[in-house]
Amino acid sequence: MKFSLNIRSSTTHFTSVLAAFVIGSFSINAYATNVYSTDAFSDSSFPGSSRPSSVAPNIALSNSSVARATLSTSIAAQSSTMDTKPSDGKQPSPLVLNGVFTQGALLRGEVPKNATVTLNDAAVPTNRDGKFVIGFDRTAPLEHTLTVTLADGSETVRHITLEKREYNIQRIDGLEQKMVTPPASVTQRIKQDNINVAKARSTNSDLDALFTRFTWPAKGPITGVYGSQRVLNGVPKWPHYGVDVGAPTGTPVYAPVDGIVTMAEDLYYSGNTLILDHGMRVFSTFLHLNSITVNVGDRVKKGEQIGTIGETGRATGPHLDWRINLGKMRLDPQTIVSGTPK
Ligand SMILES: [Zn+2]
Repeated sequence: MKFSLNIRSSTTHFTSVLAAFVIGSFSINAYATNVYSTDAFSDSSFPGSSRPSSVAPNIALSNSSVARATLSTSIAAQSSTMDTKPSDGKQPSPLVLNGVFTQGALLRGEVPKNATVTLNDAAVPTNRDGKFVIGFDRTAPLEHTLTVTLADGSETVRHITLEKREYNIQRIDGLEQKMVTPPASVTQRIKQDNINVAKARSTNSDLDALFTRFTWPAKGPITGVYGSQRVLNGVPKWPHYGVDVGAPTGTPVYAPVDGIVTMAEDLYYSGNTLILDHGMRVFSTFLHLNSITVNVGDRVKKGEQIGTIGETGRATGPHLDWRINLGKMRLDPQTIVSGTPK
């Protein structure tokens, strides 16, 4: 497909907030605001019970031209003015919430074992280690409340303010109608594709790969970002929910963290499509692959080759389109991987 007519783009402005909170429940001295880049995320960035309750800020912001990050002073201020419970001097019991506090974000957190977590009054599942994941979609409201209830009934309430994002909107007019709407002959196939994709993203495994550090699945320049949208002949199309890495056909694609293959199939729009389950309903999806070198059910290791970049399906050139889902929620991979794919 070639788009060459009347292309107008609005200016992209994307300021993301990289922040992590360590919230002590028992004394104001236990509060510390810790600023991480997503690169700082790993298992070791979750404190165990022996971790000091106060940690030195570790500021490491991304240089990425598409994801310039600034520390939001409002969020820094928030975490130091939070309500607290009186100290009983027993357990450190922190809530750690790690990630980029922006629309489209996947945030990873940890609470003491046996604590319960709710987000805006909805229960958030925790794993055996007290780790959990929450997501905020492309146009999520900016204000949220996370409540942690410890085994002894004491509550910690955390107000989350997300950075609002502005997405690139591209208007393309004068296209032949067949470029805008798929032919009727493929509507049944597209329907079936969607059912298969939903099924591939319906598992809820206890893998904890999602709590390890993600790396870029391919090398190349970023040629498309999450959230951007095309308006074709005045009709707004489905927003772009992946991050695109442009590279020649045949460039290797690697697993960004461990996972289990839940789809390896040729679909109408996304061509050869590979879905990896990383646990707790977090999935990677890789679109337009030239080849897929793993099978459904395979367990893959971080860094293992899973396929090659291509332009299968409706693609405008060879590139990898990498997506992150929390169940059905479509989130921005750039909120969990740092830097650029080089
Ligand atoms: Zn894409």
